[in-house]
This record gives sequence, structure tokens and C-alpha cells, in this order.
Amino acid sequence: MNYLFVLTLIFTVNTSIKKLVEIPITSKSQVYEMNKLKVTIVSVTDQCIQIIADDDELRTLNNSGFSYTIIFNDYREPVKKLLEKGTYHTYETLVQELDSIAINYPAITKLDTIGYSVEGRPMLGLKISDNAETEETEPGIRFTGCHHGGELISAEIVLYLIKQLTDKYSTDSYIKQLVDGRQIWCVPIVNPDGMYSYSRYNANGVDLNRDYGYMWGWDSPYPFSQPESRALKLNAEMHSFTLGFDYHSVANIINCLWDYTPIRPNVDTIMLDLAKEYYDSASYIDTIMHGCDWYPVSGSCQDAMYGCNGIIDYTIETPQDADPIPVCVSNIGAMLKMIERSGDIGISGIITDSVTGNPINARIEIEGIDWPVYTNPYTGFYHIALLSGAYTLKISSNGYSSKEITNIIVDSSVTAIDVPLILNNKYYVNKLVTITYTGNSNKTLSPALLGPEDDKSFSIGTGGEVVLDMGIPIKDSFTVYEGIDSTGNEGYEVLVSNMWQDSFVSLGVGTGTTTFNISVTGLSEARYVKMIDDGNVSNYTTPGFDLDAIESYRAFGITEKNNYKPNIMICSNPVINNLAIKITNSNEKNITFKLYNLAGQLLIKDIISEGQPNFSISTDKIPSNIYFLKIEGRNWATTKKVIILH
Ligand SMILES: [Zn+2]
Repeated sequence: MNYLFVLTLIFTVNTSIKKLVEIPITSKSQVYEMNKLKVTIVSVTDQCIQIIADDDELRTLNNSGFSYTIIFNDYREPVKKLLEKGTYHTYETLVQELDSIAINYPAITKLDTIGYSVEGRPMLGLKISDNAETEETEPGIRFTGCHHGGELISAEIVLYLIKQLTDKYSTDSYIKQLVDGRQIWCVPIVNPDGMYSYSRYNANGVDLNRDYGYMWGWDSPYPFSQPESRALKLNAEMHSFTLGFDYHSVANIINCLWDYTPIRPNVDTIMLDLAKEYYDSASYIDTIMHGCDWYPVSGSCQDAMYGCNGIIDYTIETPQDADPIPVCVSNIGAMLKMIERSGDIGISGIITDSVTGNPINARIEIEGIDWPVYTNPYTGFYHIALLSGAYTLKISSNGYSSKEITNIIVDSSVTAIDVPLILNNKYYVNKLVTITYTGNSNKTLSPALLGPEDDKSFSIGTGGEVVLDMGIPIKDSFTVYEGIDSTGNEGYEVLVSNMWQDSFVSLGVGTGTTTFNISVTGLSEARYVKMIDDGNVSNYTTPGFDLDAIESYRAFGITEKNNYKPNIMICSNPVINNLAIKITNSNEKNITFKLYNLAGQLLIKDIISEGQPNFSISTDKIPSNIYFLKIEGRNWATTKKVIILH
């Protein structure tokens, strides 16, 4: 090896070590100035800001007129010292602990690998519930820790909850009631590689709590760029939690929505009410704050959990003392209270197809809050936490007519509203996948782009970008509707893909309301639509394209080529190991079965010939998830949703 090269290498390594520094401030506005410099702020008080920065970043700070004091030359030092004391779990000992809990309490736990870190370490999620192996129609709640690998206390708090729930299940009737009535998911270590290397960041050097896709702000390579944040997104979508609590360690604060904007969320009242209950039970907490008032952050977990999925998600900041137990103890009462509150007041129910009775994916909105929660994809179950009052409920699902139910009275218990929906074969945006934050440009609220054209629109911001999930792959043409509130037609590019993260193919540009045809791309269908504003600066009150709705005329599989179709029944759905199909009224020579995953990839193709009324496909090697089974004959095709659950 060349000597110069070695020197260069050492130099590079040395400068990349980040320091923990403290910067005195005289006004909160200095936080906003510092945020513009894109340094990693880890905590803010009235007197000072603590940041993690390398030498280059410190020079930038100096040039911008900030003076600082170095607290640690390597910001990971205090974490290393803490681990040497032996009072905290390491990644390995915590994994062992989770393993033995799952072995000791098989009836009420399910240990799942929800994903893998950059370096391939498993991200473990422990589900605690009666019948833990089954997805039940019960409200869900999630507790997560260690987004920042050095914040060891956050993993300890979640582990402490796990131990309390499992150890006391058979002797404590309150805990038994909580475990039996809820689906509780615990992910103590979101960032295994970071914990392993005492680092705030994951192995790609990314701050995971800046990588989430709702109002993502260029603090990571792209929205959901890291496997760890993607895993947490998928886990939330598979289990539809009512509440989420994400633990961190730099302060004594309950940090509420939003992190990206000082504007209060529509769900503010119930969110603050629950935060107050947490505060009252956890003596160490100094205050409840809206995240952005503390310091603004784009791309946080809590913003995406609510923004995209309707989960009321909190960031709980805790102290990291030498002894973790007192902090764990001071949180446990509040955590149990929140498990109780995640399902003891509000509206619950199951949304089904009016003909088949099968559960369907639906969006549920409360008039006045106007932010969707989503049904559990396995069971069609939903739960919305609400305070006492009278509410109007709106249920929408792709391909089905929406339904509105007025004057639902919620008192001190749960009101049950089950709703069957009727097919209408119209398809609109079902869910927001990602959106970039373009500052003041994103003035309107994102749920306005969901569902049909309704004169409510969402401004995607000058140069802004959105990725939208149509729910199922759409075919042929679709129309993008521009909102009527803008003063003129604005320009944008439209792209489509069957993967939400990549492989987007351009359909060209549009101005105002425009119809596009997928076939120009060579794709036969696409599930995701990306829209990029043309970046032209306008003086409109809502800059950037104002998206009202996307409507698809023909949907994947639902449209039959003629009226003839045999009866096809899936014998058990969810499917465990064998997808069994029963066919009657068939005069077909050959019937083709194609099983697709949610990304639209073909997994299994099989053809059966005449006179085989029963047929089965082995699914034991296919991971638990939702799939589409496309069944095609000579002149017809149909698609059924299949849930594989092991
Ligand atoms: Zn943190």
C-alpha cells in the first residue's frame, strides 16, 4: 500500500469522528438558523443546543458566527463508558433476553424478525397478546426504542415493559386484561448496527429518525432509503396500530406531532389529552411539547406514522442515567395506561365486502379530524381513539362506494360500527407513500388528495414530489385532477411503477387536469404513481401542483372481458400452507393462476386443465403478507386478494 494513501486514509477516518459540542444560545430563533446548516441537533434547552458534528461541520458553524464547547471528542464515548458499567444490555444480550422471553411465554408472545439492518442484524419485534400467533380483531399499539443506537435507555424501557407484561400475566388481572384485549408490538432496537457500534446513526451513517417519508427533508439519501425505517413502515402497515410510542434519550419531554411544522395537527385534542395522561403517570417528565416548537425536524418516525398511516405516534425523551431501572419504573405506569387507552374509548369495527363478507382494506375518517386511519389488512378491523362526543364516520375503500354514518355517540366505552361496502369498480389514491417537504409550499393537508375529486386539493409544493399508492395495480388510463382553488394550470411530470421506491417510468408531463395512459410505458399495469411539480415558482396562494384526485377507469382484475365466469372460491383465507381453490360452473379447457405480491411481482404461475374442480398451491415458502391471485380463462379474468399467514 502506498504511504500517501495510508496517510490519506488515517486523515479521512480522523475527520469523520463526530464530536459532541454545546453551543450557548440567547434566543430560540438560533435553533432555526442552526437547522439550516443541517447539523445534527440532539437536544435544545433555553440556554444551549447540543449537536453532533465533525470538523468540517464545526468550521461551518464557526463561519456562521456560532461559538461552541467540546463536551466529548468522540460523541460515542459516554455510551461506551455506560456499557462498560454493565448495567445496560448490549445488542447481543438484549436479543438473548427476547429469545428466552419468547421461549418462556409461548402462549402470549410471538417473536418476529421485522427486517434486517444494513449489516444484516435482525430487527426483532415481539408481539404480546393472547393468541399471539393469530391476527385478531383487537386494537394495536407499538413501542419502539433505539432509533438512535447510543440511546440505550430507550431499549431498556421497552424491554422492561415486555418483562412486566409477560412476568405478571398469570398473576395480575389488570395486565392479563391488557394483554388479552390488545395486540402489543415491541421493537426495542430499531437500529441494531448503531447500538452495536455506540452510534446514533445506522451503518450507512444515516440518522434513521430523519429518513421517514412524510414531509421528508433531504436529511437522508431519499425517503425511506434505509432498511430499518422501511421495516418499521411495513410493520405499521401490516398491523394498523392506534397509538405508537418511540423512546429516545436526550431530555425529559413528551414530544408530539408535528416535528416538521408548527401548525397543529387535526388530531391535537385527543393527542394532547393522551399525552397529559402519560405526563401525569411519569414523574420525571418536565413538559409536553409539539416537536417543531422544541426544534424542527423533517422525516421523523412520528410524522410518517401519523401522516401516512393515521397512527398517533409520540416521541418520548428520557434521561440515560447509570442505572436504567428507575427510568424504566417511572415509565411503566404510563405505558400500561396507554395500552389501556389504545382501545378503551372511540369507535371500532370491521369493514367487509358486502357480497363475499371478506375483510377489505379501507380508510376511516372522522369528520372534523379528516385524517384517515386504515383497517388491519388481515382482518378488516379498525379502531379510532376518540374523546366522548358525537361523530360522523366516513368509510372509503378502493373499488367500493364510500359510506357515511352520522351521529355516532361515543361515551366512555367503545362504540362498535361494522360496515359492509358495495363494489363500484372506481379507483382513487388510497394512501400517501412519501412526500417531500418544500417548506411553506406544502400549505394544504395531504388527505385532500385521497379519494375522488371533491374540490379539496393538496399543494405538493414548488418542485415537490409525492408517491401515491393506488391500492392495487391500475390499468390503461387514469386522470389527474387539479384542484379548482389554484389560479391557473400548473405543470408536473407523472411516473408510474409497481414498486413504491423505484423503477418509475415517466408518462410525460401534464398541465392542469390531464389523462394519462400507462400503456405508453410498456407496462401493462402499475400500482404507484409519482408526481413531480415542474418547479416553476408561482405567486399562487398554494404553490406547486394542487392535486385533488387521481381516478382510474379500469382496475386490475376487476373488469371482466364478458359476462361468463366460473365460480371460483378460495377455501380458506387467510391461507396457512396451502392455497386451496374450488372451481364450479367451468367450461374452460385451461385456467391460469398467477400469484403476485404487493409490488406486482409474479411469484407463482400454474395452469390447470378441465375437470379439476379442486386445486391447491403450496404457500409454505411464501412469507406472511397480502397477495393478489389473478385467475384467467380464455375470455375472462378475475383477481382475488389472498392473505398468507403462517
Ligand atoms: Zn434519539
